[in-house]
Amino acid sequence: MSGIVVVGGGPAGAAAVGALRAGGYDGKVTLVSAEQQLPYERPELSKEYLLDPLRQSAAPIYEADWYRERNIDTVLGERITDIGLPDRTLVAESGVRLSYDQLILAPGARARRTPGLAGERVHYVREFTDAHRLREALAGAQHPIVLGGGFIGSEVAGVLAVLGKRVTVVERRHSLMERVLGPTMGGVLTDVHRANGADVRTGRVIVATETTRDSVVVRTDRETVEGDLLIVGGGAEPNVGLADAAGIAVRGGILVDGRARTSAPGVFAAGDAVSIRHGLYGRHLRAEHRDWAFEMGRIAGANAAGGHDEFTEVPWYWSDQYEHSIQMAGEIDPAGPTVLRGSMDDLSFTLFAVEDGRVRGAISMNRPRDILAVRKLVFAEHRVTDDELSDLHFDLRRVLRAPAAI
Ligand SMILES: Cc1cc2nc3c(=O)[nH]c(=O)nc-3n(C[C@H](O)[C@H](O)[C@H](O)COP(=O)(O)OP(=O)(O)OC[C@H]3O[C@@H](n4cnc5c(N)ncnc54)[C@H](O)[C@@H]3O)c2cc1C
Repeated sequence: MSGIVVVGGGPAGAAAVGALRAGGYDGKVTLVSAEQQLPYERPELSKEYLLDPLRQSAAPIYEADWYRERNIDTVLGERITDIGLPDRTLVAESGVRLSYDQLILAPGARARRTPGLAGERVHYVREFTDAHRLREALAGAQHPIVLGGGFIGSEVAGVLAVLGKRVTVVERRHSLMERVLGPTMGGVLTDVHRANGADVRTGRVIVATETTRDSVVVRTDRETVEGDLLIVGGGAEPNVGLADAAGIAVRGGILVDGRARTSAPGVFAAGDAVSIRHGLYGRHLRAEHRDWAFEMGRIAGANAAGGHDEFTEVPWYWSDQYEHSIQMAGEIDPAGPTVLRGSMDDLSFTLFAVEDGRVRGAISMNRPRDILAVRKLVFAEHRVTDDELSDLHFDLRRVLRAPAAI
């Protein structure tokens, strides 16, 4: 018996090996990761880790003992280059080979690189080593420039402002995180950054970027910004190469059914790299959220162990910037019609997407309880009126206690 191998050391991989054991699988279990660390929490890399000079490692999802107690082998620092489907043998860059009976692919995503943008003064933030290198470089930096005001760019810019750096953010859209937050909430967030000292330049087209030994220069359609460090927040790309090369179906992500099964028998996939058929939405979705990846990994592991679990996770994401907590749950078009609860002026509000009296999603600033309720309401058939949603005295949990409307 060769056992089950999980390729990928993120939350999806960690959850998968745990679920294999929890599901009663007692054969050989191996987790392989290209990184040197056991699976760790990536979200803090653009937040707490950059703020704390004493930290020397990322927070592990599980400690080493956890793997030992479950008899899970971990193979770190090995990048798989071929999944060898015909003879069920993985091949690593180093030449190491690992055979398997079943395989779980959880290779995550990588930071999208801007062609030509590399060198000592250029930073991307995806892995622990990226965050560590950035934190070291920040010690001597006066004027970092952040290219792109999406999730990672906005979070890093907030940290830089807190650290007292003269930070400039250059963003193509008209507000920060506009793709997910929409123009209104994105505008609120942009104001928060400016009030904290970040120089946010929105609506800019980047014409050229140059890096020299001593500086970085960003030319936009309106100005030239000169700094000493460049952080590129250009989004992420799913790692689908291994699956694609093996002839496994890929469409925007590794394609899996609701039980995390790929088009190849005995091969499962989970996490950022995957487009999964959602059991409740009834269509394929790909997301880059920590808990989404973890739950999908759990489903893949449970099913590889012989289970029949279906993926029904509600999309949920958080982002911490300054003292503010931004959260999103379900599906929402923030540029479409929404119902407001709370006050944007007070930076304490939630925008709800409502369809036929049913809450389908929400984005929120500093109202985590609303999001907690929305995570339960999204697939419930309970109805709620716009007046109830916007009434701060109305307890959203009451909706769930009422009988569901059909
Ligand atoms: C800086 C940052 C901040 C974030 N903040 C948040 C947040 O606030 N909230 C939130 O919900 N989500 C956040 N996310 C997203 C979240 O971390 C991801 O959705 C999650 O880590 C995805 O898990 P995964 O297991 O699919 O992949 P990953 O975590 O990307 O792990 C994939 C692993 O597989 C390894 N690997 C890849 N290819 C190979 C190969 N060929 N051979 C061997 N190993 C391989 C990689 O090295 C990596 O260790 C953040 C992400 C980043 C980068």
